[in-house]
Amino acid sequence: MKILVAVKRVVDYAVKIRVKPDKTGVETQNVKMSMNPFCEIALEEALRIKEAGFAEEVIAVSIGPSQCVDTLRTGLAMGADRGIHVETNSSFLPLTIAKILKSLADVENPGLIFLGKQAIDDDCNQTGQMVAALLGWPQATFASKVVLDKDKNVATVDREVDGGLETLNVDLPAVITTDLRLNQPRYASLPNIMKAKSKPIKKMTVQDLKVDIKSDIEILEVTEPPKRKSGVMVSSVDELIDKLKNEAHVV
Ligand code: AMP
Repeated sequence: MKILVAVKRVVDYAVKIRVKPDKTGVETQNVKMSMNPFCEIALEEALRIKEAGFAEEVIAVSIGPSQCVDTLRTGLAMGADRGIHVETNSSFLPLTIAKILKSLADVENPGLIFLGKQAIDDDCNQTGQMVAALLGWPQATFASKVVLDKDKNVATVDREVDGGLETLNVDLPAVITTDLRLNQPRYASLPNIMKAKSKPIKKMTVQDLKVDIKSDIEILEVTEPPKRKSGVMVSSVDELIDKLKNEAHVV
């Protein structure tokens, strides 16, 4: 079985996000970029499945500008066998990314597709669900535990839902999106970073994959969230209740 893992290059989680002065998006020039943390977890899970003997190959896929190769090299250094870079300078919305991933799945025939539950730049939380719908495959989102049964060709997935955990059995091939508690991703060791340099990365374009990139959604403006008002200190419970009643009108 092959496992396809979608890894997105995003602004590093530790960087303070700044909106571009022309409000067309978020500043990415001279900003540290990294693999989306949920994608690291997705890749780690795929590698563990391969190491347990359930898969033969882990393929990392990234869609975006030329620098996505760095993200793919990180994935190869963690242990992925090969990379696919769908090069584009357009920033696609989740539906287009999902169409590209579907098209790659049609070519590669993976038994599993892992994605992060969301990308920390757009926080969309849509791509995995859309890929599953386009492929007509079962999906298990927000996975916090994945157990494979090779004989039955089934994955048992614990999902983090509002009320606690939900356990699903999904027939393979399936799409799984990963939540924070699924695993602790490994660091790439120096020898593996060196080895990754000789692993293959195939370059493709959206034209190669014959994907229709026309979108019905246009982003008009990106703005910062409103600044939060500073809080006030109260000296007693009575004062707090009075403020909640008479100022905030919430009790
Ligand atoms: P989103 O739906 O945008 O929150 O993204 C969810 C997941 O979809 C990410 O964690 C990635 O696994 C995948 N994904 C989204 N955009 C890309 C991209 N440009 N390249 C590779 N994977 C992506």
